[in-house]
Amino acid sequence: MTIKVAVLGSKGRMGAECIKAIAGQSDLELVAQIDLGDDIHQLVSSQAQVIVDFTHPDSVMGNLDFAINNGINVVVGTTGFDDQKLAQVKTWLANNPTVGALIAPNFGLGAVLMMQFAAQASKYFESVEIVELHHPNKADAPSGTATRTAEMITQARTSVAKEPMPDATTSALDGARGALVGDVRIHSVRLRGLVAHQEVILGDTGETLSIRHDSIDRSGFMPGVLLGIRSVVSTPGLTFGLENFMDLA
Ligand code: NAP
Repeated sequence: MTIKVAVLGSKGRMGAECIKAIAGQSDLELVAQIDLGDDIHQLVSSQAQVIVDFTHPDSVMGNLDFAINNGINVVVGTTGFDDQKLAQVKTWLANNPTVGALIAPNFGLGAVLMMQFAAQASKYFESVEIVELHHPNKADAPSGTATRTAEMITQARTSVAKEPMPDATTSALDGARGALVGDVRIHSVRLRGLVAHQEVILGDTGETLSIRHDSIDRSGFMPGVLLGIRSVVSTPGLTFGLENFMDLA
């Protein structure tokens, strides 16, 4: 039995990469390719079982509303999810209890490992800050990956009652110390020539540790997207983060 998949944002950079990746899989069937202006009802007529959404933070909620409320599982790479949006997705899922939704701030398996390692390491260092670097066409800052990393680090440090990080700054220009997410400062760089990169810098007396991940090509996200498609069909409810579908015990 193949899984019928539709790609939303099919003419975009990530969507086009997903179409190539899905076409090469014998257990997956690409049944619809939808971009801005196309009729979303194709999802129903094509009998899609899973949508993969790489569209835009302003579009994704409308797509999820339609898919989930039509009983279609969703794999979501589009970023910009806050607590309010997640709560709305959970409400739709509660009304459709057989439907699964994976929302993953990063589909790079290496990136997911970088986030896990950073959270683990942050328990042992006095301070930690994040630098994320992306192409200049990116709409949101900080990136979803950086935000998620900061949340995971905050949770890890809270679990071992870490002291607040020292910072003697008494005057600073707006933004000079980055954006604060949980306990962690995030610095966002936007430059042509970059794809998606993140460095987590940890420091304590006499040593620092840098954990860096580089996405060099969008094809690097595809093993994670395929894992998400295959896993979401048997995982009802909301799954936030690809790490939940990886064996990281
Ligand atoms: P992109 O090249 O701009 O592609 C987005 C595509 O979606 C465009 O073709 C856009 O059309 C289309 N679109 C917009 N609204 C739509 C709708 N309602 N229905 C169908 N298609 C719609 O962007 P990208 O680089 O592929 O990135 C897409 C999203 O994925 C961004 O939020 C990005 O941050 C995120 N992302 C996530 C990961 C991850 O691992 N989670 C990795 C990379 C990127 P128009 O151009 O006409 O607006």
